[in-house]
This record gives sequence, C-alpha cells and structure tokens, in this order.
Amino acid sequence: MVRGKVYLVGAGPGDPKLLTLRAAELLAKADIVIYDRLVGSSILKLAPKVAKKVYVGKRSGKHEVPQDKINELLVKAASEARTVVRLKGGDPFLFGRGGEEAEVLQEKGIDFELVPGVTSAIATPEYAGIPLTHRDYASSVAVVTGHRAGDSGIPVKWDKLASAVDTIVVLMGMDSLEAIVQKLIAGGLDPKLPVAVVEQGTTKRQRVFISRLDAIVGETKKNDVKPPAVVVIGRVADLGRKLSWFKKPVR
Ligand code: SAH
Repeated sequence: MVRGKVYLVGAGPGDPKLLTLRAAELLAKADIVIYDRLVGSSILKLAPKVAKKVYVGKRSGKHEVPQDKINELLVKAASEARTVVRLKGGDPFLFGRGGEEAEVLQEKGIDFELVPGVTSAIATPEYAGIPLTHRDYASSVAVVTGHRAGDSGIPVKWDKLASAVDTIVVLMGMDSLEAIVQKLIAGGLDPKLPVAVVEQGTTKRQRVFISRLDAIVGETKKNDVKPPAVVVIGRVADLGRKLSWFKKPVR
C-alpha cells in the first residue's frame, strides 16, 4: 500500500491563467486528479497524460457523485498513488466542501495540503469591473449561498444581511434568485438598489447584466442566464458600467 498525499487544490474561476503556480506545479506531478464540474479542460491538460483523471461533478440530467462517495474515492486514491490532486473550482474552502474533505483525510491519518485558489466570488465581479468594496459605497461584504438547502444546511439569514452589509455576493443563486430578491426587499433593501449578475465569469463566454433589485429577475429570465453565475447586490454593482475592461456588460 502506498501512503499518498492528497492536495486539495483551487483551480480558480475559469480563466486558466488565474491558476496559482503551486497548483500548476502539483498538477504536473499528479498521479491521480479528481476534479469537479467547474474546472476547465485546459487546466486538466497540465496533468501528465498517464495520470488517472476522475470526474466527480454533475452531468446534465444526472446527479453529482454524492459527497460520501467522493470521500471514499479520496481515501482509496491515497492508498494507490503518491500524489493525489483534488481539484475544485475557485477556492477549495469557499463553498467547495473542502473543509469536509480535509476532515475525512485528517480522520483517516492521510497527509494533506491545502492550495488556495482565486475565488469566483471576488474574481468574476472583478472581471466585470466591480470592486466588492469602495470607499464611497461599501465597507463590508458577505458571501452567501443561494442554494435552497445551503452548502452546509444552515440557512442564510437574508433579513439580517439586508440591514447589516453593504455588498452581498451570492453564489449558486440562479435557481432561487426570485425568492432571494423578495427576502432582501422584505428585509429592507431598496428595490432600486443596483445588482449585477456575472455569468461564466473570466471566460470567453462571460456575460454581465447590471440592473436593479426589482428588475434583475426579469432581465436574467429574458436573457436565459444560466449557472454558473455570481450575483452582486449593492451600490458597487453600478461601477461595472464604468470600469468594465474585459467585456462590456450586455445591459
Ligand atoms: N469554490 C468556488 C465556489 C463553488 S460554488 C469558488 O471559490 O469560486 C459554485 C458557484 O460558484 C456557482 O454556482 C457560481 O455561483 C460560482 N461560480 C464559479 N465559477 C464561476 C464563474 N466562472 N462565473 C460565475 N460564477 C461562478
């Protein structure tokens, strides 16, 4: 039995050039790569041809591999190979379930290393010219999940967020955007507050929509916006009209 090491590695938000040097170095010597849906194919090409590549993300119409199964795979891989790279979109510790995987490795006595990645929460607004903080508009940011069940099962306190933070960044928010908007307005946010949606940020397919809280749902429906997309709620969202540099916003 081999005593392998597992590297929980962030693959960045999409543009392969945003990968860290450490991630590239580890991929180049990987024996096994276990990767998610949001990892680009050009990044996988950095791994040796002979490396085993295991996809554990969602396939259209099918469910993703359950977390227990991924955990089992990681443990098994560490008994078969020296260098196991567990590659995740963005950063492994922000809604990537990296914490759970690290816990499993720790419990099993498997050596591990964490490699941070550029998170979509910050990078995709940035590719849309939207700073999450700004001296004139925002001094606090919250990054939340829009997924109904939440990543952790702990519900987001939308009403409290509405009154407590200047910029709200929602990941996994497209499916429940309408409910999110309603809860935030009910919590006291101005229906005219700027909102931006960045679809497939940092890639050639990036589209940005800048609107208002009470109009963003119509806008995204009309334009058939699909995940992955990041939603930025707050006055900073409007800056995307002025500071767009990668692609102009669609609206
Ligand atoms: N760990 C990841 C987030 C995983 S949750 C990170 O740090 O980026 C998955 C969510 O991330 C998606 O639903 C979407 O909201 C966001 N996301 C990831 N890549 C994206 C991209 N290129 N453009 C827009 N949103 C993205």
